Amino acid sequence: MAYRLSDKKCKKLMRRLYFLLKTKKIHVCFKRIGQNNGETDYKIIYLDPREDILATAIHELLHIELRQNTEKEIKKLEEGIMNTISHWQARHFLQKLIKRMPKNYKLM
Ligand SMILES: [Zn+2]
Repeated sequence: MAYRLSDKKCKKLMRRLYFLLKTKKIHVCFKRIGQNNGETDYKIIYLDPREDILATAIHELLHIELRQNTEKEIKKLEEGIMNTISHWQARHFLQKLIKRMPKNYKLM
């Protein structure tokens, strides 16, 4: 059985991630990383363009928002969100994410 969150919990978490993108001025860029799908220095989120951008961005934002949580806990929440969000929410989130990508980002 796929691990899911309640719609309410999923919405609440996603709202916190939107808020982070918007108010903490988190930037997003592409970078071919290799070992992981993404990484963050808590200011910029680097996403490997060959990987699952949506799940990775959610994962890295969860790290920024919930700094005390372990990698295992973050992975579980990421999985829960990915199995719960609606197509509309996924689309909306990607639009917000792209707005945080500077136009002159480097594709390494
Ligand atoms: Zn992680």
